[in-house]
Amino acid sequence: MSGLFDSHCHLDYPGVFEQLDDVLARAREAGVARMTTIGAGSTAGSAENAVRIANQHPETIRATVGIHPHEAKEVTPEVMERIEELAADPMVVAIGETGLDYHYDRSPREQQRDAFRGFMKLCHRTKKPVVIHTREAREDTLNILREEGASEVGGVIHCFTEDQAFAEAALELGFYLSFTGIVTYPRARSILEVAAAAPADRILVETDTPFLAPVPLRGKKNEPAYVAHTARCIAAARGEDEAEFIARTYENACRFYGIED
Ligand SMILES: [Zn+2]
Ligand SMILES: [Zn+2]
Repeated sequence: MSGLFDSHCHLDYPGVFEQLDDVLARAREAGVARMTTIGAGSTAGSAENAVRIANQHPETIRATVGIHPHEAKEVTPEVMERIEELAADPMVVAIGETGLDYHYDRSPREQQRDAFRGFMKLCHRTKKPVVIHTREAREDTLNILREEGASEVGGVIHCFTEDQAFAEAALELGFYLSFTGIVTYPRARSILEVAAAAPADRILVETDTPFLAPVPLRGKKNEPAYVAHTARCIAAARGEDEAEFIARTYENACRFYGIED
């Protein structure tokens, strides 16, 4: 199989979930061959839904399980236990998204760091890579990744919006860099430049559905079909053939998530 791989979308999100059949049909039409749905809301319910969605669409969808850093204050030992149970499902290919968001600070930073460390330990126990969300927390993110042995489990910086120095630090840990529709926004030239310079075997594309729809659909509710615009934009910035870039990011995502294809 080949085609686009939307490496990060939230198919369980309200407004997407209710129309999932239509969303998946449009994705297929747009050439999206695979998706990873991120099961990381405020409760383990999001992870449960993601696992269910993946099991209903085993040819095209895999799942991750975690709790979003915004909701780190909800991470109790019981929630952790439930996430760990779900992580054992064969359709679960990574842990997350987890990490730190000091821009919104929706959970106290200390609780964000504790939850992040807890999920890193879960990565080691389950031997699954981590999906990182980081915003305005570069130093703490890198310190925790290093202290928790992130290079042994692997990971991705999803919705990459940092600078070249951060990209290099993440690459040094063996991480992948995943880019959203933000690269198509005129004010995000510097992020597109990081995407243009990223090593060919470490770059992924994603929608982060239902957020961050790319130009020319900016402002609309995002969905996996739109990942094509992001791939086209990055391929052009890299001076690469679009089809080749799509094939390469597909291979990268399969390798990262441990999917045999
Ligand atoms: Zn995120
Ligand atoms: Zn996300």
